[in-house]
Amino acid sequence: MSEKIWLSAPTMHGEELKFIKEAFDTNWVAPLGKNVTEFENETAKYVGCKATAAMTAGTHALHMAFKLAGVGPGDIVLCSDLTFAATVNPVSYLGGEQVFIDSERESWNMDPKALKKAFEKYDKRVKAVVVANLYGIPAKLDEIAEICKDRGVTLIEDAAESLSSTYKGRQTGTFGKYNALSFNGNKIITTSGGGMFLSDDEEAVEKVRFYSTQARDPAPWYQHSEIGYNYRMSNIVAGIGRGQLLHLEEHKELKKNIYKRYKEAFKDIEVEMNPYLECSDPNFWLSCITINEASQNKVTPEILRLALDRENIESRPIWKPMHLQPVFAKKDYISAGEDVGEDIFRRGLCLPSDIKMTAKEQDRVIGIIKRCFDV
Ligand SMILES: *Cc1c(COP(=O)(O)O)cnc(C)c1O
Repeated sequence: MSEKIWLSAPTMHGEELKFIKEAFDTNWVAPLGKNVTEFENETAKYVGCKATAAMTAGTHALHMAFKLAGVGPGDIVLCSDLTFAATVNPVSYLGGEQVFIDSERESWNMDPKALKKAFEKYDKRVKAVVVANLYGIPAKLDEIAEICKDRGVTLIEDAAESLSSTYKGRQTGTFGKYNALSFNGNKIITTSGGGMFLSDDEEAVEKVRFYSTQARDPAPWYQHSEIGYNYRMSNIVAGIGRGQLLHLEEHKELKKNIYKRYKEAFKDIEVEMNPYLECSDPNFWLSCITINEASQNKVTPEILRLALDRENIESRPIWKPMHLQPVFAKKDYISAGEDVGEDIFRRGLCLPSDIKMTAKEQDRVIGIIKRCFDV
């Protein structure tokens, strides 16, 4: 059996160890420490935002974002529908109500038309909007930000999958009032696990630090006037992040090449690559395809997935839309017309996008897929 080809696995470079060793040598493995501070500063500088707080997970950064947006029992949050559950779960932690917004076809992300429709329906009950940049492809961020601004509603950007992607020359993770990154194992850079809260509102970031360290009042004894959380990143984990950040641009380049090679190779078969907006420069975190309607009777994503799996190659279905999840069966879902997210889920597949994949290995993936189409 050939060596396993992964969807998207961690890629370490060695510098990570240098920063970890520094923490050991100074015996500063916790609490917080220099690696955390530097990782926050370096990420803020890279992304171009005023302040950041390193967290134990992207999910926790999102939880803090919803909390700062004031989401509480009964409040409506308009959410990307085609995304990973982590985008929307923290709304439930706070007692809020998700309403799921369908995707458009040009970036697979939140459809501004459907978003407007949702605002007409829920109006003053809407507390926040959360938009994800699926598979690293930026959403129609200007349009979505404009709609939120007009209505005075907080926009939260879930840039967990899109670190280093730009939209009209500006980094993702800066379009919301509050923004979240993830450094989970499969993301474009990883700290083994972790996330970051980002905002230009420095006071908001201070509040996140406060809530994430058990909400201690400024008193010599342990005094609490609010409920806190234990969500801060450790100095060891942040060391991995500092090492990884040095290679972010390189990872982006490699991901882009993988996407381009698939696109070129699939020119003549009945599939389309996941699309992106002309004004964006995505990180192509995962390369995805949809099988054209005409071929659906013959080749399904599941046929492709199993064919790859038999050759020790990992691929993955598109995120199952949130409004189809059993746990959210009672939540509302708003579409501008046809159900785009459902269609992408039905016809789509995420292909191996691991940056350690060689050209030869990628050719194997391509060959297997083409054979399924009798080419
Ligand atoms: C990975 C991911 C998250 C959550 O990040 P964790 O660090 O795993 O908690 C949130 N949203 C999206 C879209 C993701 O892909």
